[in-house]
Amino acid sequence: MKKLIYLFSFLILLSCSGNQGDSTLEATLSTGQIVEEQGPITLVIHGGAGTITRDAMSADMESEYRAKLSESLNAGYQVLENGGSSLDAIIEAIQVLEESPLFNAGKGAVFTHEGRNELDASIMDGKTGMAGAIAGVSNIKSPISAARAVMENSPHVMMSGQGAEQFALEQGLEIVEPDYFHTDKRYQQLQDVLEKENNEGTSAYLYENPDRKFSTVGAIALDKDGNIAAGTSTGGMTNKRYGRIGDSPIIGAGTYADNTTCGVSSTGHGEFFIRNIVAYDIAALMKYKNMSLNDAAEEVVNNKLAAINGSGGIVSLDRAGNVAMKFNTEGMYRGYINEKGSPQVFIYKD
Ligand code: ASP
Repeated sequence: MKKLIYLFSFLILLSCSGNQGDSTLEATLSTGQIVEEQGPITLVIHGGAGTITRDAMSADMESEYRAKLSESLNAGYQVLENGGSSLDAIIEAIQVLEESPLFNAGKGAVFTHEGRNELDASIMDGKTGMAGAIAGVSNIKSPISAARAVMENSPHVMMSGQGAEQFALEQGLEIVEPDYFHTDKRYQQLQDVLEKENNEGTSAYLYENPDRKFSTVGAIALDKDGNIAAGTSTGGMTNKRYGRIGDSPIIGAGTYADNTTCGVSSTGHGEFFIRNIVAYDIAALMKYKNMSLNDAAEEVVNNKLAAINGSGGIVSLDRAGNVAMKFNTEGMYRGYINEKGSPQVFIYKD
C-alpha cells in the first residue's frame, strides 16, 4: 500500500482587532494536494523482448546476456549512488548496451533491406517534460547521446538522417564509420529474412515471424531528487526499408517520462506501439484513471496490445520506486537495481 503524504499550504491570516493586544490567529487551508512519497534511487533497463526461450539459449549465451545487463545496471546505478541525475544514469546504462553487439542498438544493430544500419533513439526528462530524438542515423556512435543533445542543445524534439548526423558532429559527439555497427550475426539475420521473403513473396519484417527478437534497449531512472528520466535506443527492425522509423524515437510511443506518473521504455513491433501510443498510454491511465503503475502497464501490454497481436513489452518506473516490467512475448531481457541490493536480472517469462 502506497503511503501518501498530504501537503497542505496554510495561509496564515493574522488579524488584529482594534483592541490592543487582542490578536486572532486564523489558519486558513488554502490548497491541498496529494503527492506520492518519493521512493529510493532506482534504475530499470531492458534489452528487448521477443521469442526468447530457455530451449533456444545456450548456457554461455545466457551468462553473456546476464553479465551485460548487470554491467549496464551497475554503471547507471553508480551515477545515482554518487548523487547524479536520472538523465546521466540512463545515458550510462544505455551506452553499455549500445556498445555491446548482443543488443539491437548501436553496435549490433539490425540491418535494413539495403544492408545498412539505421539507428533511432529518444530520451525524455520527467522533471521538465523536455524530450529529444534522432532517427535513421548511420554514423553516430551513441544514438542516445545524440537524442540528449537534441533535447538540451536545440529548440527541436526530433532530427533525422543527415541533418541529425550534422548536428551530432557540430555537438562534438563521436562519429564512426558506418561499418562500426556491423556484426556478422545481424547481417546473417538479414540474409535469412531476405531468403524467406524471396521464397514467400512477402515483406517479412511486417508479418509475424515466430523467431523474432526485438533487442532494442532502454532505461529509466529515479534519482535522489525524485526526478525520472527515460530513454530508448535501437536499430529498428531487420529488413526495414523506405526509411521506416519505428516507435523507439517517438515520444509517447517508445519513450515517455513524467515525474508525476512514470517513465516508460518500449520494445516490440513498433508499428503497434506507435498506433497505440504505448508509453504515454500507461502514464495516462495512471494520471486520469488513478491506476497503479503495475495495473496500467498490465492493461496496455497484456490486454490492449495483446488483443491486437502487438507483440513486445515495456519497462517502467514510478516516483515511489515501483518497477513494472511487462511483456506479451516469450521473454524480455530486463532488470532493475535499487537500494535493496545487487542487480536483479531476468530473461524468461518464469
Ligand atoms: N521497437 C523497435 C522498432 O519497432 C524494435 C525493437 O523493439 O527491437 O523499431
